[in-house]
Amino acid sequence: MRLSENVRQIEPSGTIAIAALCRELRAKGRDVIDLGVGEPDFRTPDFIAEAGIASIQQGMTQYTPVPGIAPLREAIAKHITTTVGKPADAAGVVVTSGAKQALFNACFTLFGPGDEVLIPAPYWTSYPALVRLARAQPKILETTSEQGFKVSVAALEAAWSPSVRGLIINSPSNPTGAVYTRDELAAIAAWAARRDVWIISDEIYMRICFNAARATSLLDVIDSLDRAVIIDGASKAYAMTGWRLGYSYTSKPLAEQFSTVQSQITSGASSPAQYAATAAYKDAARADGAVRAMASVFSKRRDKVLEHFREHAPEIYCFPPDGAFYVFIRIDNYFSPLVPDSAAFCHWLLENTDVALVPGSAFGADQYARISIAAPNAALEEAVRRMGTALRGVEVRV
Ligand code: PLP
Repeated sequence: MRLSENVRQIEPSGTIAIAALCRELRAKGRDVIDLGVGEPDFRTPDFIAEAGIASIQQGMTQYTPVPGIAPLREAIAKHITTTVGKPADAAGVVVTSGAKQALFNACFTLFGPGDEVLIPAPYWTSYPALVRLARAQPKILETTSEQGFKVSVAALEAAWSPSVRGLIINSPSNPTGAVYTRDELAAIAAWAARRDVWIISDEIYMRICFNAARATSLLDVIDSLDRAVIIDGASKAYAMTGWRLGYSYTSKPLAEQFSTVQSQITSGASSPAQYAATAAYKDAARADGAVRAMASVFSKRRDKVLEHFREHAPEIYCFPPDGAFYVFIRIDNYFSPLVPDSAAFCHWLLENTDVALVPGSAFGADQYARISIAAPNAALEEAVRRMGTALRGVEVRV
């Protein structure tokens, strides 16, 4: 089949093979612990869900304005204003069908053939593909656990060329949970301004932060939106992954351009999701309470998981996350001719222990695997115990 250049470089998500095996094993009745999931194991708070239901019952089910209904854009602008302490303009908000679409709008609008976009690795799995869909080239910058999995200005400067048009930053990070400090982010923002590079700052886990109420936003360290796009949404903060509700925030002229792109692809986001999200962003006190409760559970689970590893599998290195809901573990000392990479390792682990993780290769870090802690404590402990037992064997040791 002859396909277009648009999709030539797009690969299926690195999680698909493991997810398929997971389903197959479960269908055979095996007790699979799926720690591959990238979504909170909580229900959408009732008052948010009820606002969505009420909107359907009241017949508010027509097309909406492409960049979102006015009350939602205003509520999001107010949320940004109160969170960051700087006035935000609703005209800069574009509501999207999930944060992923906001990322697509930004990449497709800002980058094109001949452009390079810097992406620090480990990265969220879709960033390189989104850049490629815009026919630009991702330029991956590796970071190590010793560097806290954070990119430095020196590394950015070394990677810079006149073709570099953008940088995608994600703090707290999926998959590592690394969180940039205010100083680090300010230094990166100053570098980007000097080099005239767009920063797309994916802040979808901003309020799932373990050492503070929230992580630093790019908005905290910049005075102008001229080179900045903020990506956020309801998926993770309000446990609304299936509603498909995200947004971007940037300057008004760029937001209008995003809206034009979106008008030709999906139009406005799902209307019930927009009404539900309006309730969340409007009732900040209630919504923040729900976010804080969830973040506190994740924080406790993080501590527990690190403890389980110390107890059941002390030989496995875990990078201690400061946010999001993942633990990135180092697995390459278990590689062998039969299990040569993270995909083979995760396959082996699932076959032998019924524990599903996501291979680090999906995030540009093949020496690692990602554990989602969006699972009950008992399941997490049992998974780590099974891993410890299995990996004490000889099967995968070099
Ligand atoms: N950005 C990051 C870092 C994510 O982890 C995810 C989802 O896993 C997204 C964006 C996409 O979010 P949404 O489900 O709202 O499209």
